[in-house]
Amino acid sequence: MTKLLQTTIAGSLPKPAWLAAPNELWAPWRLEGDALAEGKRDAVRLVLADQEQAGIDIVTDGEQTRRHFVTTFLEGLDGVDFTHRRSVRIRNRYDADVPVVVGPVARRHPVFVDDARFLRAATGRKVKYTLPGPMTMVDTLYDDHYKSREKLAMAFAEILNDEARAIEAAGVDVIQFDEPAFNVYFDEVREWGMKTLERAALGLACKTAVHVCYGYGIKANIDWKATLGGEWRQYEQTFPALAASRIDQVSVECANSRVPLALLGLLKGKDVLVGAVDVATAAIETPEEVAATIRSVLPFVPPERLYPCTNCGMVPLARDVARGKLRALAAGAALVRKELGVRA
Ligand code: ZN
Repeated sequence: MTKLLQTTIAGSLPKPAWLAAPNELWAPWRLEGDALAEGKRDAVRLVLADQEQAGIDIVTDGEQTRRHFVTTFLEGLDGVDFTHRRSVRIRNRYDADVPVVVGPVARRHPVFVDDARFLRAATGRKVKYTLPGPMTMVDTLYDDHYKSREKLAMAFAEILNDEARAIEAAGVDVIQFDEPAFNVYFDEVREWGMKTLERAALGLACKTAVHVCYGYGIKANIDWKATLGGEWRQYEQTFPALAASRIDQVSVECANSRVPLALLGLLKGKDVLVGAVDVATAAIETPEEVAATIRSVLPFVPPERLYPCTNCGMVPLARDVARGKLRALAAGAALVRKELGVRA
C-alpha cells in the first residue's frame, strides 16, 4: 500500500554561509569558478542529508545551485540582458532591478539538467525539481522586445517544456512550476496563464505540480498579506481552472494563513501539497501544530491526495530554523498518519 501523507517541501532551503550570504534573497555567491561549481554540489549533499534525516519523503536540491528561482534560469537563455537592468514592480508589491528581454528568447543548451542528474544520483528518495512558471518569469523581468506578456509567456513556456522534458529524462519523479503570480493577476491567469502553464508541462509523463503561494516571508509580502482582509479567497479564482487542467499536483499555503480551507475542495481530483509549515516566521512549529493543520484540511482533501509541505521556499530563513521546520513537518505528518492507520 502506498504511504499516506508523504511529505515534501515547496523547493528552496537556506544555503551555507560559505556559499552565499545567509538570510538574503538573491544573495551573491561567495565562491567562483570551479570552487563555486563544487560548492553548489556540496551544498546539495548537505540539504539532502537534512531532508533525509528529518524524514522528508520527496526531496529537492533546495535550489542550492541558483541565486534566484527565476533569474538563474534566465541566465541560461538567449535574448536577456543582465547588464542594463531596469526597475519593475514585482507581483504588484515591491520594486526590484531585473534583467531586460532585448530580443527573441531561446534555450540553446540545457540549463538545470546536469543539476537534476546530480540530484537524482545523490539520493535514493523520490525527487522533485522546481522550475519557474511562465507567468512568474514574465513578472520578474522587463520586456523591451515582445511588448506582450502573453507572447513572452508562451515563448518561455516552450523553452520550459524543452527543459522539463530533459529534466524528466534525468529521472526525477516530480517537476514543479512555481507560479506565485497566479495569486495576483487573475484575469491574465484566465486569459492565458493556464494555457502557458499547460504548454510548459505538455507531454510530461512524470508528476507535474504548480506552486501558488503568498510569497516568501519578506517584509513586502507580510505587509501585503495584512491588506488582504480576514479571509484570503485568492485561490477561489484559480482553483477551478487548475482542477480542470492536466497538472497533477497543486502546492498551496495553509499554515497560519487566512485561506478558508474549504476552498481546497475546489481541487477535487488533484494531489494537494498542503503548506503546514509557515516560512514567514523563525518560530519552529511543534509536530502537534503541523498535525493540526493537516487534520484541518482532511475534510476537503482525501489522505491519499494530501502531501504535507511547506507554505513556500525557506531560503531566507536560518539553517537551524529550516532544519527544525523539516523535522516538525515529518513528525507532524507521522502523527496524523498513525491516527489514520488506527481509523482504517
Ligand atoms: Zn512560494
